Amino acid sequence: MSSSSSSLPLQTLKIGIVGFGTFGQFLAKTMIKQGHTTRATSRTDYSQLCHQLDVPFFRDVVPFLEADNDVILICTSILSLSEVLNSMPLRRLKRQTLFVDVLSVKEHPRNVLLQVLPENMDVLCTHPMFGPESGKNGWKDLPLVYEKVRVRNETRCSSFLHIFESEGCRMVEMSCEEHDKVAARSQFLSHSIGRILAEMGIESTSMNTKSFETLVKLKESATNDSFDLFSGLFIHNRFAQQELMNLEQSFEKVKQRLLKKMSEQQSLSSV
Ligand code: NAP
Repeated sequence: MSSSSSSLPLQTLKIGIVGFGTFGQFLAKTMIKQGHTTRATSRTDYSQLCHQLDVPFFRDVVPFLEADNDVILICTSILSLSEVLNSMPLRRLKRQTLFVDVLSVKEHPRNVLLQVLPENMDVLCTHPMFGPESGKNGWKDLPLVYEKVRVRNETRCSSFLHIFESEGCRMVEMSCEEHDKVAARSQFLSHSIGRILAEMGIESTSMNTKSFETLVKLKESATNDSFDLFSGLFIHNRFAQQELMNLEQSFEKVKQRLLKKMSEQQSLSSV
């Protein structure tokens, strides 16, 4: 194999997945399709599902860590990351490995990984900006944001990134800080509005406008993701709280403008 973005040779990878929930499974399917070897460990027992996918499942994390992994891919929830990593005997790692995370916030996993990993481990922070629903018909033109936080083995890192590149993803190299700033104002904002619409119980009607259809889709896409994911976007992105306040203030401003206009109209009609 050779890479489209660099002249580095590419390798087939042995990828150990930590957290085999919705998103871990979704990524594994494409990795397997591309010929990489995957194995998984998770809090829940996924032995049966893994058997069907032909993915070895490790209930015990020690043999998982001692397996010959080129890459350890962290797909746990944002909220459980510290607990999961701190419970792993990372000193048992037999070889120099590339740790990759796919969490939807980026400064938090970068900091935790740099804190808990032995110094000789490489770190790549990524955020595929799509999920099982938006990526169900392929990943073409969908963004993959990444920062090479501590990469010494470039061939292995490029081989991992090539998984996304070769599916046609738009590769966006960006610092974890910049990612979190932009994501607070885009992804977190859309999730919040989707959750608010769900709270209001909006449903499709027989006279939907296109804009209202967009709102219904937004509600559905926000509530398809777990509440752990949504709250992780808030708790572990230091820019999110400000955006929530901006949303609240903007809502109040729009409401005040409407109320002012209404009272102007009422005074006009009473003369
Ligand atoms: P999620 O609810 O964010 O995470 C579920 C995963 O976290 C499962 O593997 C679950 O393990 C594990 N987990 C949760 N609490 C745990 C705990 N206390 N101890 C150990 N493991 C725990 O849902 P997700 O959609 O699968 O997302 C996984 C990660 O991918 C998240 O960090 C998310 O931000 C990121 N991501 C998701 C999407 C998406 O569209 N879904 C897109 C991009 C990035 P068990 O299954 O074993 O219980």
